[in-house]
Amino acid sequence: MALSVPKAMSGTIAERPGGFETLKWRTDLAVPELDYGEILIKNEYIGVNYIDIYFRSGIYSTGSPFPILLGREGAGVVAAVHPSVRGFAVGDRGISTEQAAASLLQGLTAWTFIREVARITREVPAGQGPWVLVHAAAGGTGLLLVQLLAALGAKVIGTASTPAKTKLASDNGAQWVINSSTEDVVAKVKEITEGHGADVIFDGVGAATLKADFELIANNGSLISFGNASGPPDLQNLPRTTKRVKISRPTLMTYIGTKAARVKYVQEMFDFIKDGKLKIAIHDVYPLKEAGRAHADLESRKTTGKLLLKVD
Ligand code: NDP
Repeated sequence: MALSVPKAMSGTIAERPGGFETLKWRTDLAVPELDYGEILIKNEYIGVNYIDIYFRSGIYSTGSPFPILLGREGAGVVAAVHPSVRGFAVGDRGISTEQAAASLLQGLTAWTFIREVARITREVPAGQGPWVLVHAAAGGTGLLLVQLLAALGAKVIGTASTPAKTKLASDNGAQWVINSSTEDVVAKVKEITEGHGADVIFDGVGAATLKADFELIANNGSLISFGNASGPPDLQNLPRTTKRVKISRPTLMTYIGTKAARVKYVQEMFDFIKDGKLKIAIHDVYPLKEAGRAHADLESRKTTGKLLLKVD
């Protein structure tokens, strides 16, 4: 069943690998046809993520040749349902579509990596959990990580590059925040942890932080290298260390690959939001047409929290 679904839709494509100037606004993109088990959503809000930049620049491949349609996260209203699908109806929607689009990809990343990669599986009294370092703690994923980790009782240290960003990370649950532009991150982590080091590191910055991670990690520590904001880390030439270090390079999709896992983690995360335990900070809402400006802002480290595109 469907309600007046148009044949064409608007969106931003990347014509070829490169900078944000390769993005083109189009109004003649084909609306997908439903296949077995699928529903069609008319997006109201679309999340902007660093992975969009990797797909656009070509450091990751979507699996399709250029030109490619960008965007991996959205929320809106169900516009059509394939007859094979049960449990969805035209007109359905979830929590506020703005909150949903702003929390899905980064929130599920933070929550599944805490549970399944860091293996922090139970809540302990505040400050009794492990020492956890979160790089780019005022970013979209970083702000969600610090809130969830603090709620589980971890001792959370964040890094951020400006005073405004360090304040935001601190306001969201990081007990210590290091200004990565002006302070020596390795020395500060050693000082804060009294020589112990970080038991867990969440590193979405990549190339610029890998060496320091090996210096500040605790023996038996877990380095979760999950992004490339400063460029891909050189994992072929890891720094030498006498410590026992576990290094992971996880991707979200492998933790939400089954329907059961998706339902469980989305439900848990939406419950945190509904209970007010997880606050979603929105940096800005851009018109859908201005995806290029959103990319430029994200890449230039100007932003904190989540960037959204609004569909008219
Ligand atoms: P953010 O909002 O965190 O933006 C990136 C931040 O990285 C910047 O704000 C900046 O914070 C920091 N940064 C440090 N060095 C640089 C640099 N040279 N250029 C740009 N930024 C830099 O983005 P997201 O939350 O969307 O993503 C964060 C990371 O998480 C990304 O690496 C992304 O790929 C990764 N990710 C991975 C997933 C996975 O499945 N593996 C899923 C989701 C996200 P500051 O100025 O404070 O240093």
